[in-house]
Amino acid sequence: MFEYAPAPESRSIVDIAPSYGLFIDGEMVDPIDGHPFKTVNPATEEVLSEVVAAGPADVDRAVAAARRAYEEVWSRLPGRERGKYLFRIARLVQERSRELAVLETIDNGKPIRESRDVDLPLVAAHFFYHAGWADKLAYAGFGPDPRPLGVAGQVIPWNFPLLMLAWKVAPALATGNTVVLKPAETTPLTALAFADICRQAELPPGVVNIVTGAGDTGRALVEHPGVDKVAFTGSTEVGRQIARSLAGSRKKLTLELGGKAANVVFDDAPLDQAVEGIVNGIFFNQGHVCCAGSRLLVQESIAEELLERLKRRLRTLRLGDPLDKNTDIGAINSQAQLDKIRTLSEIGEQEGAERWSPPCELPERGYWFPPTVFTGVSQAHRIAREEIFGPVLSVLTFRTPAEAVEKANNTPYGLSAGVWTEKGSRILWMAQRLRAGVVWANTFNRFDPTSPFGGYKESGFGREGGRHGLEAYLDV
Ligand code: NAP
Ligand code: MG
Repeated sequence: MFEYAPAPESRSIVDIAPSYGLFIDGEMVDPIDGHPFKTVNPATEEVLSEVVAAGPADVDRAVAAARRAYEEVWSRLPGRERGKYLFRIARLVQERSRELAVLETIDNGKPIRESRDVDLPLVAAHFFYHAGWADKLAYAGFGPDPRPLGVAGQVIPWNFPLLMLAWKVAPALATGNTVVLKPAETTPLTALAFADICRQAELPPGVVNIVTGAGDTGRALVEHPGVDKVAFTGSTEVGRQIARSLAGSRKKLTLELGGKAANVVFDDAPLDQAVEGIVNGIFFNQGHVCCAGSRLLVQESIAEELLERLKRRLRTLRLGDPLDKNTDIGAINSQAQLDKIRTLSEIGEQEGAERWSPPCELPERGYWFPPTVFTGVSQAHRIAREEIFGPVLSVLTFRTPAEAVEKANNTPYGLSAGVWTEKGSRILWMAQRLRAGVVWANTFNRFDPTSPFGGYKESGFGREGGRHGLEAYLDV
């Protein structure tokens, strides 16, 4: 084991205001009926700033601004003009990427290595990719002149705040819609920085509006009669409520919800690579990943050896200051999420699974949970069925490929899966049978704007990214 000296990224590049308003019609405005609340750094519990929980009148004002911008400006612009704005936004994201990465890490708790090397490059890539589509929609396969829907109301979670914003805003603007977006309660700051990027890009006022707040603000937005399209990423529970409240309305809806992915390792897999894939599958972003490989299915004949190698690898993971460039595991995003992870892990023990964590010192302040592995897990255990959304892996075994498929699909979710084997034919055989929107082969948690992402069953419906993702924002 190496000793590392601290290598903190400087936070002097970010300039956090003591308070923020709402971004409506191209300006930061004071709320009409909203009230202030604080956002904290989950690694230290330090209060970072005060933001607004927008009220119904604020949401109404934002939707009206988006409507006006849609009718008077954005829907009339030729695609190549919209594309120019998106290219400009993409370049500004790249120019300000260090600042945005530091800000994301401070507000969310994720390691700077991840916000810098994964989140931010993907955010820029999403804007570049969709900028390219803006003037080519006639060739996307949705007819010669596909039309936008109007005003999109978009609600996103806290696990990839700026990346989820990009997944929502980029396709909406490329296809000619305008946007009102609500970031998650605990991670509003990069969305507010994005508001500044819209201003810098001289995006016409009202094309993008950002209303911060909690669940009530989200509900006011998705239920607003002036919204034509609702795009939601979050929990299955809230997704269900939204589906219910929108039923019978003319609004178009896409839902990107939870997951409980199986990561399946066969006996012919390259074991060290598989170990890296398992670690990346469940400990990336503290396991706050909808498509996390939270169920490891390992073939019985190699289970012992694989687990030994996995445990050895987990002893080398470094947990701590998310701004430190050597940190692998950062902070849990909130006290509420930490409580949920603790509760489900305790239930895992009570139900008879065996719990293991590497020796690991947790900082005194902030919200922390050590990387955790449960063995002896059965399919009936709650830790094998429910989404924990934390750094907790449940290990199950199988004997035959058919049993692997059976167990992998034995979940109400269907977002992603992983297959580790040397045989190409087995990868294809598995991919045809796994009921999951994304199947990774000999890798895990890889994302690309050209590749559609989305779920089956209780993981939601609709796709984001790729040509498929455009459809959700077009009147087809
Ligand atoms: P959540 O509680 O469902 O919240 C998601 C967003 O909805 C937040 O902005 C939230 O506001 C808002 N919200 C809460 N109640 C609402 C309501 N009644 N109407 C409208 N909006 C409402 O989920 P979360 O805990 O933040 O995020 C974790 C979940 O997201 C996990 O289940 C994860 O799997 C899923 N996820 C899915 C994907 C995907 O692509 N499939 C990607 C990332 C995450 P607050 O912030 O105030 O709660
Ligand atoms: Mg925060």
